[in-house]
Parts: sequence; C-alpha cells; structure tokens
Amino acid sequence: MSNQLTRIEKKKLREKDKGIIDFVKMQNHFFPNLIKELGKVKDPRKENYTEYTSEELLYPVILKNSCTIESMRQMTEWFDDANCASNLGKLIGRKIENIPHYDTINNFLERLETKEINKVRIEMLKKLIRSKTFYQARMAENQWMVILDGTGLYHFREKHCENCLVKEVTDKEGNKKKVYYHSVLEAKIVMADNIIISLGTEFIENESENVSKQDCEIKASKRLLKRIKKEFPRLKICILGDSLYAIESIIDICKEYDWNYLLRCKEGRQKNLILDYRYVIENGEYGEKKKMLRAEKGTAKYVNHVEEITGKTFTANIFEYEYEQINKRTNKKNTVKFQWITDIELTNRNIEEMVKCGRKRWKIENEGFNTQKNILYKIEHLNSKNPNAMKNHYLLTQITDIIMQLYLAGTKVLKELKQAIKNTSSRLLETFRQAIVTDEDVSYIKKYTTVHFT
Ligand SMILES: [Zn+2]
Repeated sequence: MSNQLTRIEKKKLREKDKGIIDFVKMQNHFFPNLIKELGKVKDPRKENYTEYTSEELLYPVILKNSCTIESMRQMTEWFDDANCASNLGKLIGRKIENIPHYDTINNFLERLETKEINKVRIEMLKKLIRSKTFYQARMAENQWMVILDGTGLYHFREKHCENCLVKEVTDKEGNKKKVYYHSVLEAKIVMADNIIISLGTEFIENESENVSKQDCEIKASKRLLKRIKKEFPRLKICILGDSLYAIESIIDICKEYDWNYLLRCKEGRQKNLILDYRYVIENGEYGEKKKMLRAEKGTAKYVNHVEEITGKTFTANIFEYEYEQINKRTNKKNTVKFQWITDIELTNRNIEEMVKCGRKRWKIENEGFNTQKNILYKIEHLNSKNPNAMKNHYLLTQITDIIMQLYLAGTKVLKELKQAIKNTSSRLLETFRQAIVTDEDVSYIKKYTTVHFT
C-alpha cells in the first residue's frame, strides 16, 4: 500500500486545515488563560496614554511569529486588513478597531520589563508540567530532562549597546576588527520526542563595557539554574548538556538543588576521572551491554562511582556508547562514539535509556535553534534595536514556539498532510487574513478535545 497521498486526497485535507482556528484551539486547550495573562502584565505606560490594552499589543506579535513574518514592518503590512482586526478581536474576545502599528508595539516592548513576559511563560510551563499528557517524556525516576544550550543571536559591526559582548576577528585581508554581539543561553525541557520547549532563557551579556572578563555560557548557566530552581522549586530535573558543562561548579549546583545531571564528557574534561575510568575498563571491571538501539546495534560500557578512585566529592558514573555507521555514499564504515558522566546509577536495565537521553541534546543543537533561526521565526532578525525590546521579542518568540510545537505535533490534519513547516505557517497567515472568524469558530475553539501527541 502506498503511503503517498493522491492529489485529490491532499486537496481535501488542505481544505480541512483550518489554520489559525486550529492554532488557537491548541492554545486554548492548554492555556485557556493566555490572553488574560498577556493582559495582566505590569503596564509601563502612563494611564492616560493607553489606546490599546497590553494583550492587543502582545498577541499580534505571537501571531506574527507563528505566521513566519520576518519583520515588524511586514507584520503591519500583512495585518493591515479589515478581516485581521475583526479576526484578532474574535480571538482575544473583544471587539477592536485596528491592529496596533509596529511602532506602537515596539514602544511598548521597549518599556515593558522582560520579567513580565517571563511570568507568562512560567504559567504556561506550569500548566504543561502538571498535565499528565507529557508524563511519559520523563526519565525513570520521574525527572524531566532539561537541556542547556547557548547560541549567538545578533551581530553588529558598531557597538550596539552598553551590554554587547565583543570579540576581535581577523578578516580576509588580515585586518583585525571588533565584532559586537548578543548571545543567549536556553534551558529547554523535553515534553515529548518532538516537543522541546524553552523552560528558561538567560541573555549572555556584559554588565558594562569596561568589564575585565566577559560574560560567558558558564556564568550565564549558573544564573539560569538558580532562577529555574526559584521558579520551579519542586520540579524534578536532570540537567543535560555538552562537555562544556561537565565541570565541578555545575555538578555542585545540581547536587545542591537535588537535581540529577547527565553531561557529555569529551577528552580534556574531567581528565582524572576519565583516566581512572579507562584504567577500570582495561582491567575488565565494567558493565557492558551489546546490540543496543535497534538498527544501530551499538555497545555501551559503564563504570559506577569512579569518584571513589579519583577522590572527588561528587558522584561520577561514567559511560560510553559506540556503534558502526556506514556512509551511504562511500560505503565506508566509521565508528561513532560518545562518552558521558552522570550521578544516576548505571545498570544493564537502564543503560540503553541513558544513552538515548544523553543523545537528546543533539536534537536541540541540530534542530531546535536551526528551526528557530532558519525556518520558523528567523530569531536572528532584529525586530527592534532597543536592547529591552530585543529581549522581549525573543521571549515572545519562545512563547510562540511553545504553542507552535504543540500545534504542529498535536493537530491531526497536519499530521496527515505531512507538509513542510513553511507551508503550515503560510496557511496560518492565509487563514488569519482571508477567513472570517465566526462565532461558530470561536465555540469550536472553546470546545474541549483530547490531544494526542503520538
Ligand atoms: Zn548590544
């Protein structure tokens, strides 16, 4: 039987794709109070100067992001349509005359404190974490996997603000010049194989221009972990990250917060522990499991409590995994090898699961930021030069991304269509601009449904 849809089947499915209506339905399913929360942010404006409410200013940005509209100017152009204003009114539950101009929105975002947008996201995450729908994504002891990963966001040739990071680069002619930039560190929580969303954001930036040592991922991760503990005090977490984070200060934080850790450990990181681990392996005193992960048929080896040999105060269980990969073009074999360090006791029963969890981090590196940068939201595009608005835009993108991932993974017709994400977001824009949202649609949005993510 062919898996391909015929052209007629595809056409029928496309007609069933309600676009923005389904998007808002998903939003409403998990976050029925989102619009209200957006309306509750602490308004930085003077009272007599408020033509729009805060949800009227913030929600269009979420729609702009989900429709993959690249710039704020384009947003105003695309949304400058009578249907859009009346549709937005239906979606947020209040009649509105027109959608605010992007200057008005950016002015608001310049003054709104970033913690206000962050509060909205915290509420969303708490809803998701409490929902049994995602329990199966947790690890054996009910820990949620939280992945640390940083990336560069904006680059400037001239100094952009007091907090810019700066580096010296050498161009093709050999001239040295300074580059100013902003980076971000994300803690992403795994809710399902295809739903990995931002639990917390920390901007990597200098406190002032004259700092002796610049801010960096490690420093930012300490701030971020501290904030996550405060915002989600009882959440059971296992921190995942690359070998950059396999250092004592990060492991100590995990221990202090009663979290687990599972970190890549490449050559050079935790040198003494790794040497002792090798020594134990050579003496044949290790656990081993073969023919793992189906087609890969890989082999894992592990040693628990290497710290007892090395003399460290934190638990260090070390494991490695390797498998043969055949390059389809050249038909040549090469060995792929990973190595991790963790405080979770390793056994023949959990080792396969641990290898799978350890490799989750690759997903965010290879797909997460790439999707956000190049496919969906173009997060490297600067929506405002103002440093505060810049951050608010980034945080609103992460809020959009939460709804978008749930929408992409949980909407039945999209699963059947199997179209490119780009077509899905074009459809969102098309339906928001051209369809007329009716009362019937609104009652459909509010109707309770169960959502399946498999
Ligand atoms: Zn700057």
